[in-house]
Amino acid sequence: MKDINEIRADFPILQRKIYGKPLIYFDNGATTQKPRCVIDRQEEVFTEFNGNIHRGIHYLSDASSEAFENARETVKSFLNAGKKEEIIFTSGTTGSINGIAFSFGERYINPGDEILVSWLEHHANIVPWQMMCERKGAILKVIPVDDSGEIVLSEYYRLLSPRTRLVSVTQASNALGTVLPLKEIIAAAHAIDVPVMVDGAQGVQHGNIDVTDLDCDFYVFSGHKIYGPNGIGVLFGKEKWLTELPPFQGGGDMVDKVTFEKTTYNELPFKFEAGTMNYPGAICLASALDYLEGLGRENIAAMEKELLRYATERLSSIKGLKIYGNAKEKISTISFLLEKIHQYDTGMILDKMGIAVRTGTHCAQPVMDRYGIDGTVRASLCFYNTKDEIDSLVAGIERVKIMFA
Ligand code: PLP
Repeated sequence: MKDINEIRADFPILQRKIYGKPLIYFDNGATTQKPRCVIDRQEEVFTEFNGNIHRGIHYLSDASSEAFENARETVKSFLNAGKKEEIIFTSGTTGSINGIAFSFGERYINPGDEILVSWLEHHANIVPWQMMCERKGAILKVIPVDDSGEIVLSEYYRLLSPRTRLVSVTQASNALGTVLPLKEIIAAAHAIDVPVMVDGAQGVQHGNIDVTDLDCDFYVFSGHKIYGPNGIGVLFGKEKWLTELPPFQGGGDMVDKVTFEKTTYNELPFKFEAGTMNYPGAICLASALDYLEGLGRENIAAMEKELLRYATERLSSIKGLKIYGNAKEKISTISFLLEKIHQYDTGMILDKMGIAVRTGTHCAQPVMDRYGIDGTVRASLCFYNTKDEIDSLVAGIERVKIMFA
């Protein structure tokens, strides 16, 4: 196992200074920084073997196609999916959810049907379902959360009904850090034959994910939040669903035979991959996943657990600081507010100290409404962060307090 200095040396951006101060990057929930191997792989794609995939008979096209399909294999292993045909590349979590919402809506949804989401969802797991409900005359139902930021399971069981067609929940809340009890959620839905989609955008990068063991029907995530490039994402779907669902985009590559009278579709997974895919993104995403496997996902989870414990303890000791989200199971994300100091002011002053945090509603406005606030300061930590950096955050917050005293 690499030590923390070796790990940090793998991420070139962590060596830079912001306003003359060492960068302290605590906005990993928004996007993660990239290890050298991902940066190098991108250069390799464009200097060594770039050619459009699945289309050419020439050397470069073959090499790109092979690397792209190997990337699919890497994602399949990372998620422990059953088949590589169940791995669809998309533009990201948002792209994946919109795709499923469209296809599922077209195939299965009728007026009066219900879709269940939780109160903790990112807008990406709310709006596509609202759009689908509007199109199909269906109804969106919401599982409530309690004051600690945990979903109320008894209410979930109550909301599940013969009208429920799909449950779509996040693995972890980007705003509060809450980890959802996915096994219970999935088991209860399956007991009445309702499929479950999991938004893994804030879960996949924090430890082991096993879609076979979890038994979810769909699982989605974004490359840029797991140390890979932007513009690439994944949609895992069980084969039986992907076979039945219609494609969500039409175009090149996703077809079998095209005539003006009738078009037939390609086999899985290509049926859902219309047009030129972001193959450089997929190839570099695979490098990021390999990097994480190299560090060991259990090691990553342990490091982040300790960072969360330490940061929670240190931040809790600051007078006038309130943490939002105290669920028993959390990813290493802490949302907080300082008494009488607006989140933007806190964030802007921390920035001048080289500390990057996120402020605002975190694209999770309903969560903010639930607590009657208009946003928080969010520190989302990951394995390349250190306790020294957390100490600097605490010192920075104390300075913000003095400036506003
Ligand atoms: N879902 C969750 C829980 C998120 O945190 C995010 C982004 O922050 C998204 C979905 C959307 O991800 P993307 O913008 O990469 O599509």
